[in-house]
Amino acid sequence: MPDKRNQGWNLEDTYQQLPDFFYTSVKPAKSDQPALDVYNEKLAAELGLDSSHLKNEPELFSGNHLPEGSKPIAQAYAGHQFGNFTMLGDGRAVLIGEQVTPNGKRFDIQLKGSGKTPYSRRGDGKAALGPMLREYLISEGMHGLRIPTSRSLAVVATAEEIQREVLLPGAILTRVAASHIRVGTFQYARNWGSKDDLQALADYTIARHYPELVKEENRYLLFLYKVAEKQAALIADWQLKGFIHGVVNTDNVAISGETIDYGPCAFLDQYDPKTFFSSIDHQGRYAYGNQPGIGAWNMARFAESLLVLIDDEEEQAIPKAKEAVEAYVKSVEGYWLDGMRLKLGIVDKSEDDKGLINNLLDLMEKYYADYTNTFRSLTLKQLDSEPGLFQSTAFKEWYQLWQDKLQNQSAPIEEAYQLMKRHNPSIIPRNYLVEEALTAAVEEGDYKPFHALLAALENPYAYTKEQEKYAVKPPEQDYQTFCGT
Ligand code: AMP
Ligand code: MG
Repeated sequence: MPDKRNQGWNLEDTYQQLPDFFYTSVKPAKSDQPALDVYNEKLAAELGLDSSHLKNEPELFSGNHLPEGSKPIAQAYAGHQFGNFTMLGDGRAVLIGEQVTPNGKRFDIQLKGSGKTPYSRRGDGKAALGPMLREYLISEGMHGLRIPTSRSLAVVATAEEIQREVLLPGAILTRVAASHIRVGTFQYARNWGSKDDLQALADYTIARHYPELVKEENRYLLFLYKVAEKQAALIADWQLKGFIHGVVNTDNVAISGETIDYGPCAFLDQYDPKTFFSSIDHQGRYAYGNQPGIGAWNMARFAESLLVLIDDEEEQAIPKAKEAVEAYVKSVEGYWLDGMRLKLGIVDKSEDDKGLINNLLDLMEKYYADYTNTFRSLTLKQLDSEPGLFQSTAFKEWYQLWQDKLQNQSAPIEEAYQLMKRHNPSIIPRNYLVEEALTAAVEEGDYKPFHALLAALENPYAYTKEQEKYAVKPPEQDYQTFCGT
């Protein structure tokens, strides 16, 4: 039973075993009249926290009171932002500790929007309520979709007004992640630290996330391979579910393989690989179809930062690192292809699958079909949602080929449809639904739409009647997202 006094907190601070070059001790700023607007009781239970007390603890999730055992820090890191290398660090986040759960798992508990740190540069260290609710909703939606992600434990609204283009109500998000070690953390060590600093970071990260490598002699190269493999799986998953991260800078790439840093992310409606929503992504660098390639670019930056550990001789290290990045390229394609097979109920793999899959995607693009609903309709055998696509001759021909394939598989066709149900979400956090929920919450203090959407997204593969209203296609509009600042 959790101790009432400490509410189940079991905080450690192993990151602070690293040289202090990697962090700065910092206290969250005091906030005015915090109110606990959203609280994730299920996640709290997984973390071993006692909600009977915590759900009435806005002071704690605002950073006004720190939990027992907390030694708060801001982490240092660098990153390539839209291709430009720069020093960054937690400018508006404080890591209050690493919660070790009853199952022995370790999670960073971080307050986002809790005031300035030495890494804030010109920023105010604060966050607005809308973007923090958005991160909560989408990260929990991603978890429901079974995509590796940081989680959200709480959102506290403060009485403060945050200066953006207009004044906005302030908020603090409690973010939970396997860790916040990023590609950018390694770039920081590589650029401004000693080789010992870099090695200390690599050894720490390997022990925390890839303990099976600890005793391997060439562990740094193997580590690069593992991280690249995780990234490949993650980005393939984004593609399969239609998720556009929006700002896959190297500082937003977690070594754990989780999705982190929900800013201008959004889900694809109509299928078009060129889609991007972020208002600051002028060139579409992080467009949907570019994500697998950007993953390779980011892995190349990660590889560069590890070169001195991979081999004393740079000339030896470079070809080894290149191979690892090439392995990523193969993996991301492989994960995607396997995932697409599952989305189409294909269990007997064949060479022709890729052609079959790409033909469908080409037709979806040509007929402006909705990505999620096309697969949903195929899964439900109700070809009504995308009339343009489904009534075309080209699609009918494709459908026949696909059905022939399913009929002639080693598994019964019903099994194929069951598989499709497990891999094609019936609902996603659609942009217009997210906006409606956030507008009601922020402008009217009405959290009902937010909670209803959150609940529906808990199991997007359920195909229940109640979820149907969330599968409705969006009204046509130009959707733009803004960085969650
Ligand atoms: P992001 O775009 O959220 O990945 O953030 C990029 C960098 O900007 C990180 O170092 C953040 O900590 C920092 N940052 C973002 N917003 C703020 C803010 N309001 N105040 C201070 N730093 C910020
Ligand atoms: Mg970031």
